[in-house]
Amino acid sequence: LADRLEDAWKKLRGQDKITEANMQDALKEVRRALLEADVNLQVVKTFIAEVEKAAIGAEVIAGVNPGQQLIKIVYDELVKVMGESNVPLAQAEKSPTVILMAGLQGTGKTTATAKLSLYLRKQERTCLMVATDIYRPAAIDQLKTLGEQIEVPVFELGTQANPVDIATQGVAKAKEMGIDTVIIDTAGRLQIDEEMMLELARVKKAVNPDDTLLVVDAMTGQEAANLTRTFHEQIGVTGAILTKMDGDTRGGAALSVRQISGQPIKFVGVGEKVEALQPFYPDRMASRILSMGDVLTLVEKAQEEIDLSDVEQMQSKILEAKFDFNDFLKQMRLMKNMGSFGSILKMIPGMNKLSSTDIEKGEGELKRTEAMISSMTLEERKNPDLLAKSPNRRRRIAKGSGHPEAEVSKLIKNFTRMRGMMQQMGQGGMPAMPGMGGG
Ligand code: GDP
Ligand code: MG
Repeated sequence: LADRLEDAWKKLRGQDKITEANMQDALKEVRRALLEADVNLQVVKTFIAEVEKAAIGAEVIAGVNPGQQLIKIVYDELVKVMGESNVPLAQAEKSPTVILMAGLQGTGKTTATAKLSLYLRKQERTCLMVATDIYRPAAIDQLKTLGEQIEVPVFELGTQANPVDIATQGVAKAKEMGIDTVIIDTAGRLQIDEEMMLELARVKKAVNPDDTLLVVDAMTGQEAANLTRTFHEQIGVTGAILTKMDGDTRGGAALSVRQISGQPIKFVGVGEKVEALQPFYPDRMASRILSMGDVLTLVEKAQEEIDLSDVEQMQSKILEAKFDFNDFLKQMRLMKNMGSFGSILKMIPGMNKLSSTDIEKGEGELKRTEAMISSMTLEERKNPDLLAKSPNRRRRIAKGSGHPEAEVSKLIKNFTRMRGMMQQMGQGGMPAMPGMGGG
């Protein structure tokens, strides 16, 4: 996403407000990114409309390019839609808590039943797993094997009993044993069918679960939306588990599931092993869906570190052609505050291809620049033209800073040129540092 957004961003650069017109290109990229992440088309449309609403009229933060800022808005919106924070499993006031697993065959229900049990067991809770998948004999064995592995008992009545009876008796058994959580594993079909839905509805009615979790394979892609709609309409789910997030999917199904059901995703499965279960965190998922990683960190850092009044002051100085070496030094130090130069550069899309030698070079250049400015008198810093005119002054600075005279001249030339450019642009933001492509 970051790479492709660059072009769209360029168009936004230099604008002081995000408007309906100037964000269209960037939004188009966001839309494409979401579709590529397998978010359902309808869900994407609704989402983009929300983003547009949130973004219109937003002031562009100085020092951040507006495209990045739009991404931040997209990200925030994504986190918001996905529920802001992690929602834990339901817990009944009176034991046992009953959790019902629902979903298509092969999505990972049985595995997730065991994963959840282990997760709860680690929190000193006791579990009973109930095997109601009577259609495949191997399914009961699978759960029993997992049960032995994690030392959690399994309740089953073979393949002849009916799922409603098994579930009801399983819950009764848990009560009798003083176990606090019952997790009911159910059968699934390869595709949604009436029979399966009716059976699941009957089981649900019989045990009245505290949590009905829809297990969705993250690789399902676009279909996740329809699937969720059907299950939610016919069964009523209270949450979801997104499995197989260890694959190379970007996890767009998360957004679809959440937006269509309005219910939180509670866990993600990240592997075949029973330990491979994590609570769902909307912020992490948002980053993954947008696959933009560090761009966000940069935007956040910029927001934190840049003192807005400072920036405004600097902007008016630029406009009045009063931007001098003092301001320049201040900006440089500001950039340094934001982390090492290299780590900042790497966060900027397009810059992540820089080699470490390039970065070292840039870092070194910054240091030299700082040394040269430090050797200037206050008067010289305020009035760079003095330096442009006087070789004597330049020589003195070269000596004082221990850098060749040619380099001092280059710095002054670059600075003057940069200042001219900034005035032309008529707006602030981070000036290009000498050495970063100039020369
Ligand atoms: P069920 O038919 O819904 O009960 O699905 P299963 O629990 O039997 O899982 C189907 C397959 O998916 C098995 O091979 C599991 O090992 C695998 N599986 C389940 N969850 C995950 C996961 O989070 N990551 C990966 N990579 N595989 C998983
Ligand atoms: Mg199963």
